[in-house]
Amino acid sequence: MAISWPGFGPGIESVRSSQHLNPHSHTMKYQAYTLGNLQSLPQYERLSPEQIRAIEVVANVLPFRVSSYVTDELIDWDHLDDDPMFNLTFPQRGMLLDPDYLAMDHALQSGADRKGIQAVANGIRNKLNPHPAGQLEHNVPTIDGEPLHGVQHKYRETVLFFPSAGQNCHSYCTFCFRWPQFVGMKGMRFAMRESELLYRYIDSHPEITDLLFTGGDPMTMNCAVFRKYLEPLLSGPMHPHLQTIRIGTKSLAFWPHTFLTDDDADDFIRLFEEITSKGYNLSIMAHFSHPRELSTDAVRKAIARIRSTGAQIRTQSPLLRPINAKPEIWAEMWRTQVSLGCIPYYMFLARDTGAQHHFAVTLHESWEIWRKAYQGISGTCRTVRGPSMSCTPGKIQLLGVSEVAGQKVFVMRFLQGRNPDWVARPFFAKYNPDAIWISDLEPAFGDRFFFEEEDQSMFHEDYHQDDPESFE
Ligand SMILES: *Cc1c(COP(=O)(O)O)cnc(C)c1O
Repeated sequence: MAISWPGFGPGIESVRSSQHLNPHSHTMKYQAYTLGNLQSLPQYERLSPEQIRAIEVVANVLPFRVSSYVTDELIDWDHLDDDPMFNLTFPQRGMLLDPDYLAMDHALQSGADRKGIQAVANGIRNKLNPHPAGQLEHNVPTIDGEPLHGVQHKYRETVLFFPSAGQNCHSYCTFCFRWPQFVGMKGMRFAMRESELLYRYIDSHPEITDLLFTGGDPMTMNCAVFRKYLEPLLSGPMHPHLQTIRIGTKSLAFWPHTFLTDDDADDFIRLFEEITSKGYNLSIMAHFSHPRELSTDAVRKAIARIRSTGAQIRTQSPLLRPINAKPEIWAEMWRTQVSLGCIPYYMFLARDTGAQHHFAVTLHESWEIWRKAYQGISGTCRTVRGPSMSCTPGKIQLLGVSEVAGQKVFVMRFLQGRNPDWVARPFFAKYNPDAIWISDLEPAFGDRFFFEEEDQSMFHEDYHQDDPESFE
């Protein structure tokens, strides 16, 4: 299939108000492909035997699911090997290190039973740091001494909420840092069934200004279910210190019909309008990893429709070697986003979990890519911050490579910190050309980073996490 993507035609048909009729006349039915029904993929014949094998082997360890919108409209089937959307959604051989790949390949070939394959899979999974940044054990708040599972409160102003009904995605990203929850990992589905405790918690914490719905992808919930989680916001008086409701989602890239032609698309648009007319700022935290995801008619209409509700759309993605590791890609993506009315927000680095070895670029490369992209965009695109590592102490931005007192260093700073006082203080790490993550770095001066003094145990424990009991 031929796709043209870098050209951005004019004519984003703007839908000013949801009072207008739904702009699409026909309905698209959601269809997903997984290992179980891969052969029914219409483009199955385009896959080489090697690609099919790699999908089978890797998908027995890491999750795989892709929506028909991605396979029909985003993947360029003529250039599969270096196609960014194929690499983003279909498992690749390089995602497992050779010994692990061979072990699973062997288990499958030798006709091991379900249990045997599971055992091999779990052995590999446990080596892939399934709980980066202490997601499970840190940051779970309590109310009246009771832990609020399904809530994380790490940064003072923002509380994360994992609605139990929203722990799925339209397609799985191959680099997903929350991959364990899609392969049935025990305790990994942080999720909350109802929201009463959440709002009690928010009310008792006046420092919270932002509530972020995350997942999975909360936009996989149907609107009636989503509305239940928001009802306490919409019916009662305004929660005075709560300013912004955020929804973290990849649905604009993986299933924009959520906002256009799905049965409850119009309900979602009305729900968004209710949130904004109530006086809350609604921010869709949209995940876009490549400009092609912004190129279809459907995504452009969905963006316009969301914006017509008064919601804003902020955009973020990690930097990923097989997908977007070129400055031109980022510059084009940010420009397109701004031209569509979106606000570039974060460029992340591939996290220390799953197939990080396959997706990460070195810190040095990330700075080169960042700098070249950032130099080529106007100030309206420069709302973006990065490259940023989400690690246990906080979100750490690499400001660049420099020289201090004759020593080559990385200059870094916190964009978010477990301790708010850490934010915006430049600090230095010894330059290391091979480093891909904070754990590869050493302080340039002294023997500790300034933030390690405070809580060393917290900082070090999950670098070497090993929890063999963590899978069902
Ligand atoms: C990134 C993140 C947030 C949101 O941070 P912002 O900088 O406000 O976007 C909140 N909580 C956690 C745990 C995060 O990783």
